[in-house]
Amino acid sequence: MNLFRRHPLALVLLALVVVSAVDPLPALVDAATGAPPADADLSRPLGYVVAAPFSDVLDALTFLSLDRARALLAVWAVALAAWGALRPAPPRRRAARALLGPVALLALGGAAATLPRSVPRLVTSDSALTVIDYHAHTSASHDGRRGWTALDLARWHAAQGFEASYVTEHNVLFDQRGQQPIPLLPGVEWSVAGQHIVALADTLPVDRGRFGRDTRSLLGLFGELHRHGALSIASLPEYWRAHWDDLDEFVAAGLDGLEIVNCAPKALGFPAARRGQVLALAAARDLLVVGASDNHGWGKVTCVWNLAVSGVRGYRSNQVVARPLALAQGEWLPWTAAYTQPWLMFRGLSWSERCSWITWILVVLIYRAVPRRAGDAAGLGILARSLEVFKLRWPRKPAPPGP
Ligand SMILES: [Zn+2]
Repeated sequence: MNLFRRHPLALVLLALVVVSAVDPLPALVDAATGAPPADADLSRPLGYVVAAPFSDVLDALTFLSLDRARALLAVWAVALAAWGALRPAPPRRRAARALLGPVALLALGGAAATLPRSVPRLVTSDSALTVIDYHAHTSASHDGRRGWTALDLARWHAAQGFEASYVTEHNVLFDQRGQQPIPLLPGVEWSVAGQHIVALADTLPVDRGRFGRDTRSLLGLFGELHRHGALSIASLPEYWRAHWDDLDEFVAAGLDGLEIVNCAPKALGFPAARRGQVLALAAARDLLVVGASDNHGWGKVTCVWNLAVSGVRGYRSNQVVARPLALAQGEWLPWTAAYTQPWLMFRGLSWSERCSWITWILVVLIYRAVPRRAGDAAGLGILARSLEVFKLRWPRKPAPPGP
């Protein structure tokens, strides 16, 4: 009981790591069926597992939809500031503690977006499948991260198990041919009439003025792309937000496929019920369904991979495999993010990650729990204690005899 009163945070974390194992989430799911994929698994490198508390928190921050990211940051910033301000201490120290929490939270957000780190990788047991990304950007896109080159993008993909990726800049044709470390394939993302259409193939420029006036003119783009030898994919979140009622018309006009998962924060909130409707339409009309990292140079992990089957077209030609934490974004209301995101993160831990979490918690707990003598610096108790053992003790001079 005394231990709990002194170290509530460590013990709550320990309980969460253990209790969440009762109802675990799989590492990966097929976005169409919700079941773990038969031919693919997530491989977590040693560095990722050793640093699991850090790796998992940064992944969980990366896989937030925009609304949930705002809610989580607001609630945690206020809670951490209040916790710092209310703990007994002199006023200046309270103010510093109140600032520390929100600043640390922002630093974690920055680390999720930019800090180089060890990342999990998709591995597949079926050599007939190609692990591919259909939608990604470099700094050639107006909203791409500055300095984010095609080579950076290829390395980002290769580290996560991708064997190829299309590069689909906003309204700019991709003309760089690299094969290292993975082949980058030419594509483009056309913005027309509030919709983004990803065109796959070494395509030609199109007259956006002609196809971008309204939904009716947009329908002509699908035929134009076919004449250029390109496949057309409707991108998320635009068709969900702006053209949900036009999908049948898109398909009738020649649309070849739809994204059902897109890792951009604006698209991650796509609800499972809508995904189900899109899958039913795609299955009935034999359309391609794909997942998109939509990488712009920010964030170190993808939420989705594609397993492409060579020699097959349409619905059966591609399997979309996603991280369950990312798919859950559409299922939970934004204001619940402050507690649902950590809970889903804990449920998604592998056994090796749970062991890593428990080890870190125990190390910190032991370090802080060893009693200190008055005058020892806070937190250095255990070090001071162990150094004491080796300290040579000189016999003290006898006190001068009293009168
Ligand atoms: Zn994009």
